[in-house]
Amino acid sequence: MLRTKALMPAPAAYIYAEAVRTLSDESGGVAQRRRLLVCGVVQGVGFRPFVYGLARVHELGGFVRNDARGVVIEVEGAKERLDLFAAALAEQAPPLARIAAIETSEIEPSGEREFTIAPSAEGGERTALVPADIATCDDCLRELFDPSDRRFRYPFINCTNCGPRFTIVRAVPYDRANTTMASFEMCEQCRREYEDPANRRFHAEPTCCPECGPRLSLGLDEAVSLLHQGKIVAIKGLGGYHLACDAADEQAVARLRERKRREEKPLAVMTSEPELLVGLSPAEEALLRSAERPVVLARRRVDAPVAASVAPGTEWLGVMLPYTPLHHLLCADFAGALVMTSGNLSDEPIAFENAEAERRLGEIADAFLSHDRPIERRCEDSVVRAAFPLRRSRGYAPMALPLPVSAKAPLVATGAELKSTFCVVRDDQAFLSPHLGDLDTELAYSAFQTDLELYLQMLAVEPELLACDLHPDYLSSKWARAQELELLEVQHHHAHAAACLAENGETGPALALVLDGTGYGPDGTIWGGELLRFDLADFERISHLDPVPLPGGEAAVREPWRIAAAYLERAERPVHFADWPRVRESLKVNAPLSAGAGRLFDAAAALLGVREQISYEGQAAIELEQLAGHAKAEPYACRQEDGRILAADLIAAIHDDLAAGRGRTEIAAAFHEGVAVAFAEACERAAEPRTVVLSGGCFQNLRLLASVRRRLEEQGFRVLVHSLLPPNDACISFGQAAIATYSVR
Ligand SMILES: [Zn+2]
Ligand SMILES: [Zn+2]
Repeated sequence: MLRTKALMPAPAAYIYAEAVRTLSDESGGVAQRRRLLVCGVVQGVGFRPFVYGLARVHELGGFVRNDARGVVIEVEGAKERLDLFAAALAEQAPPLARIAAIETSEIEPSGEREFTIAPSAEGGERTALVPADIATCDDCLRELFDPSDRRFRYPFINCTNCGPRFTIVRAVPYDRANTTMASFEMCEQCRREYEDPANRRFHAEPTCCPECGPRLSLGLDEAVSLLHQGKIVAIKGLGGYHLACDAADEQAVARLRERKRREEKPLAVMTSEPELLVGLSPAEEALLRSAERPVVLARRRVDAPVAASVAPGTEWLGVMLPYTPLHHLLCADFAGALVMTSGNLSDEPIAFENAEAERRLGEIADAFLSHDRPIERRCEDSVVRAAFPLRRSRGYAPMALPLPVSAKAPLVATGAELKSTFCVVRDDQAFLSPHLGDLDTELAYSAFQTDLELYLQMLAVEPELLACDLHPDYLSSKWARAQELELLEVQHHHAHAAACLAENGETGPALALVLDGTGYGPDGTIWGGELLRFDLADFERISHLDPVPLPGGEAAVREPWRIAAAYLERAERPVHFADWPRVRESLKVNAPLSAGAGRLFDAAAALLGVREQISYEGQAAIELEQLAGHAKAEPYACRQEDGRILAADLIAAIHDDLAAGRGRTEIAAAFHEGVAVAFAEACERAAEPRTVVLSGGCFQNLRLLASVRRRLEEQGFRVLVHSLLPPNDACISFGQAAIATYSVR
């Protein structure tokens, strides 16, 4: 048996056409027969029709069929033709296919002349990969808006190249019977298209039409008119419900925020004219238009027709293009930008079942625009910046990420708590879950268990090993400890470092700067401003921020001024916050020590009057970055002692400069550069190895990221950063998975 990792050079169709023409003049040699097993993302992406067409071009007999491992092809004909077929298979595969491997074996010829698409094989090992959901393609869009087409304005139009996948799949192989479309019987016309090899809906599993397919629960015109009146409409999408309102209507947005209990965290906007709202770099434009259709953070235009309360306190606006036919119709009819935020209360999991949504969103939404195509599994919108994702979810899940080593046995890594994800590993493939939200409520916890169960079913994995965070109280860790399986507990920042390293295909050793909010340290203090020397098996804490007490514990995270006060005391500077004498008392009873870099940014933001209280995680730091902008400033100095970075020096400098009347923007810039210099210097002291990975939520701060990276590179370090995974805690499960895979061999 021959096993090849398929290479995918540019298509060279004309070469094959030429070669086939030459061949067809010959009578052909003795017929041979080959069986090819194609693994990877090859179901639900138009692969069988493509194989069918290819076999016809090369005049081969045989069949193609889905099975639980991928696509099985048997082809019979002259050797030369078989070779051309095999080469074209890898090189001309449909754009959404991801071929992982092709196994080829010679078998007995049977004299077959015809080529057919055979029914899927039942049973066997289930390793076929389910594709991610795919945004409506251009061909379907044309039909959607063509009055003469029978699917004119039909909100569920799709084809072999587009439509729902991951969110409707119940099991592999990917056939209609294994999706939530199973209950919709195809009408005669749809059936004909589905069975016609020349039709672009040939074996398009979710295909349907107004005759036979799903229906909306509310007229589109009515929904649009409600939106124009400033109402909030819950709209059923691909992986769950959105809450929508007119993005230009200040009162509508304010009402949505109040009902959803989301005070200031930015809301995403859907528009078919993004250029009216944001300035786009070519990279941002490409991401926005990619088949994954994520929310892209881009710089808001000053004249953008969007209410100020959509994204207060930041110049960044999350925009996305319509990605389902329903969205396209809505955007076209509404003719303006719509807020499209997750259908949930604050940071709970997104609602995705009709009855559940009506129960949970009934108090928020004025109306529901729903339909009767069930969503099998929840999947929230992905959020990306040009350089890296902030949330890797719809459009990406369940696409696997490769690990640098192969797992001895299947395993599950349960992730962290905020921005939670889990990760399932089979061989060297890491299947990251969609975004699960913050795992600190009963609702989120039960969603975590359900989603994990569904994921394991889909992947046919029974884990033999678990990995979780060292934290004593994370629900994801508690769940893992309650299972009767071998368990590896991983330190939070080691997982961060490992995620970035493994994402870059390496196993170490390396240095890691992990600048993060909160993570449980083995010494019982809170870590988060760390320089580690590590590999995928182990780590050593080389240097870290000198910890300060968090007066009142969690309360200090919500009220950054408390941390500023603690830092000022450490720096022997006066504390002017009015509540300090009272809060200071809490130092005696509840003041865990924290070395978190996020807390240092909070303190600086509070001192600069950016924000004394926050309403969502990371808010103070985001607004501090905004204040610093691109201003130039000499970095503040900061002493280092016995592996401790004395960041109180930075806070003292802010205090003194404020007292001297220096501009806040310049101070914020000097602080950013001071932090970058301090950590770059720590790396210089550590000296070896010469590779540094950067991870942790603070590296979502582009100014900090750029400055640290530049300084390290100038010092001669090789710097590895995230590009496939978010730097925040969403990458933790992948890091745990990498460590578990590497350690247990
Ligand atoms: Zn299509
Ligand atoms: Zn139909």
